[in-house]
Amino acid sequence: MRLRSVAALLVGRMLKISLRLLHRRGTSLPGLVMHKVSRTLLGDLLRQLDTLVIVTGTNGKSTTTALLHSMLNGEQDHWLTNEGGANLQQGLLSALMAYANWRGKLVIKRAVLEVDEATFPHVVRQCAPHLVVITNVVRDQLDRYGEIDHAMHLLQEGLRDQGITIVANGDDPLATSLAMGRDLSYFYGMDQSASQAAMGDEVRDGAFCLNCGSELVYDHFMYGQMGLYRCLHCDFAHPNLHFLGTIQDETGLSIMECISWRQGHEAGRLDFHVSASVIGLYNWYNVLAATAAARILGRSPAQISRGAHAYKAPLGRMQVFAGPPQRILALIKNPTGANSVLRAMMEDVCEKRVCFAINDLDADGRDVSWLWDINIESLVANAHICAWYCTGRRRLDMALRLKYAGVDPASITVIDSLEFVGKYTSQSTAPVYVLSTYTALYALAGYLQAGESA
Ligand SMILES: [Zn+2]
Repeated sequence: MRLRSVAALLVGRMLKISLRLLHRRGTSLPGLVMHKVSRTLLGDLLRQLDTLVIVTGTNGKSTTTALLHSMLNGEQDHWLTNEGGANLQQGLLSALMAYANWRGKLVIKRAVLEVDEATFPHVVRQCAPHLVVITNVVRDQLDRYGEIDHAMHLLQEGLRDQGITIVANGDDPLATSLAMGRDLSYFYGMDQSASQAAMGDEVRDGAFCLNCGSELVYDHFMYGQMGLYRCLHCDFAHPNLHFLGTIQDETGLSIMECISWRQGHEAGRLDFHVSASVIGLYNWYNVLAATAAARILGRSPAQISRGAHAYKAPLGRMQVFAGPPQRILALIKNPTGANSVLRAMMEDVCEKRVCFAINDLDADGRDVSWLWDINIESLVANAHICAWYCTGRRRLDMALRLKYAGVDPASITVIDSLEFVGKYTSQSTAPVYVLSTYTALYALAGYLQAGESA
């Protein structure tokens, strides 16, 4: 490793230690500074890997990566990963730094990394991935990619090497078009003959065929642009699936695997079950994506089940507390992040309740005007919410926001203290989404945990 890179690592480490003394997490800043000191450090680290697995796409990267890491990582076989959505160059650097010794040598040589679409071609240029998982490519109006074409272009650029194995969401026409026609492509998707819920009239970004530009015809929708699609003017259509998932109940996914294995394995069909503590159809897609990738990487169904079972969402990242009622804790701190949580709630089709815990301490930001920029109106219209709760220091501001969004005041309960959230929300069995700003998060997690064991 170049001296400059070793120096950059040293600077990054010292910065990380300083941030820790200041009680800051420091997922990005050390990486940003390291990148300034040495432009080649990321490549120097990535090139030491024996096996690199990348998870990319618009939604579901963090959850899929965490699940896959849990399935791959074992006592004999160590894998490194980037936790908590640090998926840009600086985040990747900060993550890899944790696994490098003082001379810049990685102590673990296998990695499963979540990589943002914009960073993806850059990472691939530094180190050829063994396998790439593409979760989906959908419009994300609030993020920096206004154009879905731009995201597709970046992904295509990164996937130019035909030697890369791709595991793609076959129910998504855009992810599928990235993987189709290649030797080393595997598709996963949900069983659409079963009565799994379909959502109606959302914007569907994959509605046009990437081959010929014609509008795609859907025989069935799962959610968003996911479904059973075909083009009437060319041969582009939903692919044959190698991994077909059927959601059994709230805790399990049954998977039918159909692969003609290349390396001497016999062709045929294998059925197995994976349970995981996740919520929402979109999250079962993540479980299926991770399972497909883990199977391609040689994990047995038993190893996969163990990994999925051990998976736990990090604090406030759609963290599930068992019920009844099931409670899901999500951190919100700005309109962009809050809206993506709302989108996830809209994808979950069952009847639910929502609790906003809004504080305005320094770490939350003193100004709560951003509450007016989150798309509550859309949540009201699309998410089947039967009760609303507001708590935290700015509970009344939040209640006012809800009223202006058209929520019936009779369905809003103002809870004076965070500690009563558990009590109020246990009065019905409908799941509760608890959306919390930073300083209320730790306390709420404690109260919800206590409710779980009661
Ligand atoms: Zn077509």
